[in-house]
Amino acid sequence: MAIRTGAQYLAGLRDGREVWYDGKRIADVTQFPEFEASLASIAKLYDLQHDVRHRDVLSVDCPDLGGRVARPFQFPRTREDLRLKREAYAIWAEATCGMMGRSPDFPNVMLTALAAKRGFFAELAPERGQAIVDYHRYVAENDLFLTHALLDPQLDKTKLRHQQRDPGVPLHIVEKNAEGIVVHGIKRIATAAPYTDEILVWPFPPTFQPGEEAYANVFAVPMNTKGLKTICRPSFAHRGAGRDAPLSSRFDEMDATVVFDHVLVPWNRVFLHEDIGFLNRLYKESRMRELTAQQTNVRLEVKLGFVYAVLVRLAEAAGIASRSDVMELLGEAVAWLESIRNTSRASEEQAEVDPGNGCIYPDLFALQSGRAFGPVIYPKFVDLLKRLGGGGLIQLPVSLDEFDSPIGGDLERSLAGAHISGREKSALFKLAWDLCGSEFGARHELYEMNYAGERGMLLAGIQREYARKKYYLDYLDRFMAGL
Ligand SMILES: Cc1cc2nc3c(=O)[nH]c(=O)nc-3n(C[C@H](O)[C@H](O)[C@H](O)COP(=O)(O)OP(=O)(O)OC[C@H]3O[C@@H](n4cnc5c(N)ncnc54)[C@H](O)[C@@H]3O)c2cc1C
Repeated sequence: MAIRTGAQYLAGLRDGREVWYDGKRIADVTQFPEFEASLASIAKLYDLQHDVRHRDVLSVDCPDLGGRVARPFQFPRTREDLRLKREAYAIWAEATCGMMGRSPDFPNVMLTALAAKRGFFAELAPERGQAIVDYHRYVAENDLFLTHALLDPQLDKTKLRHQQRDPGVPLHIVEKNAEGIVVHGIKRIATAAPYTDEILVWPFPPTFQPGEEAYANVFAVPMNTKGLKTICRPSFAHRGAGRDAPLSSRFDEMDATVVFDHVLVPWNRVFLHEDIGFLNRLYKESRMRELTAQQTNVRLEVKLGFVYAVLVRLAEAAGIASRSDVMELLGEAVAWLESIRNTSRASEEQAEVDPGNGCIYPDLFALQSGRAFGPVIYPKFVDLLKRLGGGGLIQLPVSLDEFDSPIGGDLERSLAGAHISGREKSALFKLAWDLCGSEFGARHELYEMNYAGERGMLLAGIQREYARKKYYLDYLDRFMAGL
C-alpha cells in the first residue's frame, strides 16, 4: 500500500517504454528535456499528498481497498465524501493553475466509477466484474497514474469502423487465446501518455453498430507493454523561461497517439470485449460522468478563477479597472466563473445514493451544465484577455532579463503602466500572452472546447436524458389544464 511521492512516481517511469518524439525514440522519459518541467509539476502533486496541510484531504483510509489510498480512489458513500473529493481536486488544480486537465485524479476517479459499477461488467461475465475490481484495487494500492485513450483516428466520418478504407487502423481485437486478447490499431488523444504508468482504453462515443464488434473493447495495460508505441505532438514547453512563459514552462501536458502492434492484454486486464450492446451502455450506466465531471468542473473553476484574476490585474495595470464598460466585462467574467463554481456544489447538494451499489453520485445535470458551458466560457475568457491586453500583449521584450541590460531604462519607460513598473507589467502581460497567444494557450482553448467530447452531442444527450424534464412538463400541463 503506497501513497507515492514525486520521486517514486518518476522512478516508476524508467521502465523501457517506447515513446517517440520528432522521429526519435526517447531513451528515458525522465531525462527528456521537453518533459522535464511537466514531470516536475506532476511530481509536486504526488509530494503534496505527504504535505501535512493537505494529506488528510488528498488521501483517505479505505477499508474496502485495504488501507490508505489517494482520495480519487475512494468509493463515495456520503455527501461529506463528495465534498472532500471536491477539495482534493481543488488542491491539485490550484497547484497547476488548473492547467493540467489530465492530472492523475481525473483518470483515477474514472476507474473508481467503473469499479463502483462492477455489477455492470459482471452482467457480461463474472470474470469481467472481478477484473475491474482487481484492477482498481491494484491501481489504488500502487497509487498509479493512468492515461486514457477513447478516440479512433479521424478517418472518414461517413463510414463505420469496419467500412474504412483500412479497417485495421481503429484499434480492434485480432486474436483471443488462453492468455488474453490481442489488440492491434491506433487510439488518440492520450494526454500525458509518455509519462503515465498505464493506459485505460475504452471507445467513445458509444454509438457502435453491428459489424463493429471487433472494435468494442475496454482494457488497460502498462505503458511499457510490448508492442505499445507512444507518438508525441510538438512540445509547447519553453524551457528555461520561467517568468517569460510562466505556464508553458511548467504545465505543458503532452498529447499523444498510441499505436498498438499486436499487443497482448491478459484476461485480468480485459473488462469488456467485442460486445457492442454493453459498450453502448457503458458511458451512461457506469455513471462515470457524474464522478469525473465533478473533477473536471472543479479544475475548470480553478482555471477560470486564475484567468479572472489576470483580467483584473490587466485592467488595473491600464488604470481602467473602475471604468463602467470594463466593470461590465469583468462582472460578466465573475458571473461565468460563479456559474461553473456552483455546478459542483449544486451537484453535491442534489446528490443521491444509488441503491444498486450504495455509492452516492453528484447530480448529473448540475455537472453537465458545466461541461456544456465550459467550451463556451473559456474562449470568452481568452477573448477578454486579448481585449484588455490589446497591443500590449505583443509589445514585450524577448526576456525580462532585458530590464537589466543597457536598454533596461528604455524598456521601463515604454512599458510602465498605471501604478506598475515596466518590469512587473511585462511579467503580467507575458503571463496573459501565455494564456491567450502562445501555442500552449491555443492548445488550452482547444482542450476546453473538446475535452468533454463533441459539444453538439453532449447537448443533445443532456436533452435526451434530462431527469427533471417530466417535472417541468407536468408543471406546464397542470397550468394549461387549469386555464
Ligand atoms: C488538447 C486535447 C487533449 C485531449 N485529451 C484527451 C485524452 O486524454 N483522452 C482522450 O481520450 N481524448 C482526449 N481528447 C480528445 C477529445 O475527447 C476529442 O477531441 C473530442 O471528443 C472531439 O473529438 P474529435 O477530436 O475526434 O473531433 P471530431 O469528432 O472529429 O469533431 C470535429 C468536427 O467534426 C464534426 N463531426 C464529428 N463527427 C461527425 C460526423 N459523423 N458527421 C459529420 N460531422 C462530424 C464535429 O461536429 C466537429 O465539428 C483531447 C482533445 C484535445 C483537443
